[in-house]
Amino acid sequence: MLNISETLPSPPFRSADPLLQPLWDHLCLHHRSLVSSPFFVVVLAFSSYFFFSLPFAVLDLLGDRVPFFHKYKIQPDRQPTLGMMVKSFMTALFNHMFFVLPAVVVGTLFLPAPTLPKQAPHLYELLTESLASLLLFDTQYFIWHYMHHKNTQLYRWVHAVHHEFMAPFSWSTEQLSIPELMTVGFWSNMDPLLLQCHPMSIWFMTVFSLWMSVEDHIGYDLPWALNRLVPFGLLGGAPAHDMHHQKPSSNYAPFFSHWDRIFGTAVTLKTKTRK
Ligand SMILES: [Zn+2]
Ligand SMILES: [Zn+2]
Repeated sequence: MLNISETLPSPPFRSADPLLQPLWDHLCLHHRSLVSSPFFVVVLAFSSYFFFSLPFAVLDLLGDRVPFFHKYKIQPDRQPTLGMMVKSFMTALFNHMFFVLPAVVVGTLFLPAPTLPKQAPHLYELLTESLASLLLFDTQYFIWHYMHHKNTQLYRWVHAVHHEFMAPFSWSTEQLSIPELMTVGFWSNMDPLLLQCHPMSIWFMTVFSLWMSVEDHIGYDLPWALNRLVPFGLLGGAPAHDMHHQKPSSNYAPFFSHWDRIFGTAVTLKTKTRK
């Protein structure tokens, strides 16, 4: 679904990144047809979603038979069933097959064919471009999300699908209505182009944001999760988003916590003392 702009800048007089340039050269030389395909980012996104979600689905099915993980379950009394998981996964698969992929096909008719610049980004460029894209998306989704909870009709027809389950689980990450999925997909496509991100930054950001989204929904308050590793509570993570599913007038931002703090909608999960 993501299309790589033909006009991506590649400054002529700068040294190559020692880490990323060999990787970029390899991809461009040996996998050019794959990575320049407009379908590449869709496949990358869906496969990331699948492989990030799968281990947590197994953990959910094992439940308290794996006490090491089960003790971190945020809502231990609400365990997802296999039927709930299949339903959520099939919704995501159906939406991708019948809406996302056709949208990419239509995009190829109107947008220029993707091309790849010769130079890889520097690592700091990849990180700053990814962070900028995440911050922009976080702001857009915060506003969209707030509006869809305040307006009854918008909630009912667009966002309610995502709130079917009060206790989120990994596969429920992409249990979205078609309008919500298309809106999220549109921003995910357009923001990196607007910010003139390198294709490598786009791919990194796609995988990383998928991980953050899945982590939001895993239903486990893991001590090594990103929101625990990043200081000052800058990221909401599973505790914040789990609370949003329990108390939908709170924690509207998908990744960061600053907008909810500024607008007074941040609600902290009361965590139990764990042994
Ligand atoms: Zn959610
Ligand atoms: Zn919501």
